[in-house]
Amino acid sequence: MRPLLIANWKLYVRRPAQALALLDATARAARTGRARVVLCPPTPLIPFIVNAIGSRNKNIVVGAQDVFWEDEGAFTGSFGPRLLKQIRASYVIVGHSERRRVFGETDSDVSRKVNASFAAGLHPVVCVGERSRKANWKRELSAQFLASIKGISRANAAKLIVAYEPVWAIGTGHADTPLEAGGAILVLRRLLAKAFGKKIASRVIMLYGGSVKAGNIGGFLDHPEINGALIGRASTIPREFERIIVRS
Ligand code: PEP
Repeated sequence: MRPLLIANWKLYVRRPAQALALLDATARAARTGRARVVLCPPTPLIPFIVNAIGSRNKNIVVGAQDVFWEDEGAFTGSFGPRLLKQIRASYVIVGHSERRRVFGETDSDVSRKVNASFAAGLHPVVCVGERSRKANWKRELSAQFLASIKGISRANAAKLIVAYEPVWAIGTGHADTPLEAGGAILVLRRLLAKAFGKKIASRVIMLYGGSVKAGNIGGFLDHPEINGALIGRASTIPREFERIIVRS
């Protein structure tokens, strides 16, 4: 399986010139690396990035950082999955811990977004992760995961992309170890196997996220349970992201 790298630019990338520099670095590295790369700019920049990519690199596609579950109606400030599809986003990050913490999103909101994204033909990337490694953290993680994918069909389960992102590792510089992250991902895969069968569970793309950088990406991708990474800060630094892609 080719590694999948999701670049979450958050609100760090705002100027078109900054976005273009990142796109150039990504395109350079993606020509030689094995990875498929999904760039997730702030939503207003998506058409600009889609146009700039054009047909120059099939290994780079565009995603959004969030979506609402309704496609139309009196929902000021929101946009739905079909609108994202229309502006040629193909992936969408759903349930990021910053959405949960800052905007109060619940597991049930996340599951509605996941189902609506599938219905529109987008690839949702479902983020889950424990807040700390206190006792019972695997139970917290499991409950959050099952509630976040509630209602998905077997057919969609096989197309799931899950980002295991321990909250304490996001933006802190303290990444998890590949061994622990791989163990947590195995817990999630076993839940999928119980719900949908081993064959489907084995096909689900599982990513690690939390302070990934060029110096540690190799260790994560060497773990047999980890199929890629969701990268925040380091994906907004051109040279650093280039190195991450090359080492993937
Ligand atoms: C993230 O935004 O999901 C993330 C993992 O950020 P960082 O890589 O900066 O920890």
